[in-house]
Amino acid sequence: MTLVPLPAFADNYIWMLQDGRHAIVVDPGQAPPVFDALERHGLQLAAILVTHHHADHTGGVAALRDATGAKVFGPASETVPQPCIPLKQGDTAEVLGLRFEVIDIPGHTAGHIAFFLPAGDHGEPIVFCGDTLFSGGCGRLFEGTPAQMLSSLDALARLPGDTRVCCGHEYTLSNLKFAAAVEPGNTELARYRAACEARRARGEPTLPSQLDTETRINPFLRSREASVQQAVLAHARLSAKADEVDVFAALRQWKNDFR
Ligand code: ZN
Ligand code: FE
Repeated sequence: MTLVPLPAFADNYIWMLQDGRHAIVVDPGQAPPVFDALERHGLQLAAILVTHHHADHTGGVAALRDATGAKVFGPASETVPQPCIPLKQGDTAEVLGLRFEVIDIPGHTAGHIAFFLPAGDHGEPIVFCGDTLFSGGCGRLFEGTPAQMLSSLDALARLPGDTRVCCGHEYTLSNLKFAAAVEPGNTELARYRAACEARRARGEPTLPSQLDTETRINPFLRSREASVQQAVLAHARLSAKADEVDVFAALRQWKNDFR
């Protein structure tokens, strides 16, 4: 089973898992990059996994399903191209002998889900987390609250440390610029940023990232660390009584305004 990101639009990734004969794709916002990959490798599309309803994650679903007969799995509480097998927290999706566990991760959208694949013959665990956790950052709160996003990121952070984090966008460098402003003293962050800059300079994706790395460099997974709290308190002039959700909300707002 191999895992590759197929670039789409300006900075989206459509993730593809394939075993040499069949493929699974995640969040196909466009159909052509998937058709190209299927043709290039001689693959049949078995399933499409959808993490949330945004068009840059679903725009290619109907064309791919109509052409291949692939099964579509998506969030139970969002409007996605039909027919779609609806999934929520605790459900599983079984495709090509793989068993994906569904985790509810609201915040970016109200019904956003993640697909978690435990370790197996394919190697380390994999999580497809859409626009919730990015390398060095997190998604914007279009439909959910800061409290929801914080608890969704907590749920993802509880996955095994060697989990490969497969995000929906190549936002890593701009996220890390912000992360460095929040934690200028984080030496692992500085090292990771240099490594990601080198990858981008070679035209390579920075993803998948590893969950262990994210917990050490991503300010949105570190909002309870003293270094991040102090930076947020100083930036947003929060009162000393601010709770962890207030701090997280101010951190997200800081990122929204950051250039
Ligand atoms: Zn989105
Ligand atoms: Fe997106």
